[in-house]
Amino acid sequence: MIVPRPKLSWLERSYLPGVVQGLAVTWKHFKDSVTGKTKETLEYPEEKPQLPPGYRGAPVLVKDEEGREKCVACQLCEFICPPRAIRIEPGEIPEESPYAKVEKAPKEFWIDMTRCIFCGLCEEVCPEEAIFLREDCYSITGRTREEMIHNKEKLYELGGILPRPIKKWKNK
Ligand code: SF4
Ligand code: SF4
Repeated sequence: MIVPRPKLSWLERSYLPGVVQGLAVTWKHFKDSVTGKTKETLEYPEEKPQLPPGYRGAPVLVKDEEGREKCVACQLCEFICPPRAIRIEPGEIPEESPYAKVEKAPKEFWIDMTRCIFCGLCEEVCPEEAIFLREDCYSITGRTREEMIHNKEKLYELGGILPRPIKKWKNK
């Protein structure tokens, strides 16, 4: 199929209507911004953007109120993660440890933020409420791909302490 080339008037061929329309849009945005009708910039990080309802945030690991890691290295989150962004190296808790009631803890835990699609499945599947998507944790940057792979230390640093009902250390 051959699409016929439209016949342009001399005015259209001069591009003037297009230029004027473009300038009109620029002028409207300039006017709105000068009069304060719209505000396009923020004094980040002092000012934070208004997040849309339902915004999830980024996955992090959290500790209980006594600073102990909740994760039991069950690897359910690793299994469920659709883009395979999570990688866990399980470690054993030694028998003589006061926390030996729980057998495993992650020796290492990585989340590749270049792969994560922020779906929240890891949070949903975790039986220990150890992994959360934190809303305030959206400013994730790195200069290299390696920096975008968050290790256990970084994940706990971002997650901090989040008291929740599930406490694996408590004897019933
Ligand atoms: S939010 Fe989704 S994609 Fe990201 S680590 Fe969790 S399960 Fe994987
Ligand atoms: S974060 Fe939760 S689901 Fe993932 S390994 Fe730890 S306990 Fe299991």
